[in-house]
Amino acid sequence: MASYSQARLSPLREEENLEQWVINRFGRRLYETFFKTYTEKVWGISCDKIQADWAAQCIQGMSLQKAVLNALFSTNNSKSTIKEFYYPVLGPGMMWERFQEMLESLGAPVQLNTAVTRIEHEGSRIKGITAQYGEKTIPISGENFISSMPVTALVSRLDPPPPKSVLAAAGSLKYRDFLLVALIIDQAELFPDNWIYIHSPEFQVGRIQNFKNWSAAMVPDSSKTGLGMEYFCSEGDAIWTMSSTELINLASHELIELGLINKLSKVEDGVVIRQPKAYPVYDGEYRQHLQLIQNYLNTFENLQTVGRNGMHRYNNQDHSMLTGMLAAKNIQGEKHNLWEVNTERSYYEDFTKQRYHNS
Ligand SMILES: Cc1cc2nc3c(=O)[nH]c(=O)nc-3n(C[C@H](O)[C@H](O)[C@H](O)COP(=O)(O)OP(=O)(O)OC[C@H]3O[C@@H](n4cnc5c(N)ncnc54)[C@H](O)[C@@H]3O)c2cc1C
Repeated sequence: MASYSQARLSPLREEENLEQWVINRFGRRLYETFFKTYTEKVWGISCDKIQADWAAQCIQGMSLQKAVLNALFSTNNSKSTIKEFYYPVLGPGMMWERFQEMLESLGAPVQLNTAVTRIEHEGSRIKGITAQYGEKTIPISGENFISSMPVTALVSRLDPPPPKSVLAAAGSLKYRDFLLVALIIDQAELFPDNWIYIHSPEFQVGRIQNFKNWSAAMVPDSSKTGLGMEYFCSEGDAIWTMSSTELINLASHELIELGLINKLSKVEDGVVIRQPKAYPVYDGEYRQHLQLIQNYLNTFENLQTVGRNGMHRYNNQDHSMLTGMLAAKNIQGEKHNLWEVNTERSYYEDFTKQRYHNS
């Protein structure tokens, strides 16, 4: 409380990086014991190198007062402390399978496993794209284009290429990668939480998912537990380059050391899922690089970028979907600035409440 009071009474003048942002709102003590180690595990860089924007987007609407009130009285006043929500019985992928079915029933085919390799433009208009499906090269022309591929990939596929400064800016944007070691544990119940965050720096695992606690149907045999051991890493680093066998071994040993299982033989099997470019990194320079790319892409009259890596913005699924919906509305003649989503909270809430909940 002393550390919190000090931060409130004489806040740090500068609030450029995550360390300063968090200390000003939660005090240095809580920053060091709670925020610092986990955040550094996620990003692989020190908190004074991460821009305050990320904290502002990620810890939206949360304060120490709210956290204490929530702990004491179970108030549900921040999205970070939400206690109940709907969850698709077999996970969020179901939404996209249904979405695909609906699109196809309306005559709009979805072409999966197909990479856009070239985006052809003439002046300020995108004319068409070239896509690759296995051996098959598919040219596609169109009136309007919406891109959710990483913005760095988008600019490198433009033909003719953008100015060198734009390519250099794209080359300077960074990502954090991620891998999940899914383990089958021969025990019906392990712990009641959906996930556990592992702040301790002596463990490499960052977060542990207990899939059964999200939805019982996610584990086909109710006598077992399915855990997802999440490791934040960077392509090519020591964790990323470990073989699947080594990773399963590491994850199993960490489970023992954490006291979550009592013997190695409880781990029946495992599989590793690697996700490159899981998180857009907000380092000290990203804003200026992104602004340059954004200014250049804005010169195209029929191209919009949406989503998380599409905008190099720490957007969650709801924000990503919202940018997609607003992009569609822009094509219908409305005028929305997609870059305002996830910066202006009121924009988001107004949109979802008024236009969707009431309709
Ligand atoms: C570990 C982790 C946990 C998360 N947890 C949550 C959560 O609990 N709640 C939440 O709301 N959000 C969560 N998110 C964020 C959520 O996953 C993203 O916000 C969302 O997936 C972004 O959607 P998107 O359509 O922008 O991008 P993506 O889902 O990444 O889709 C982009 C697509 O573009 C494709 N693509 C790339 N290059 C090309 C190319 N050249 N040609 C064609 N296609 C290409 C990719 O294959 C990909 O399918 C999490 C993310 C991670 C990594």
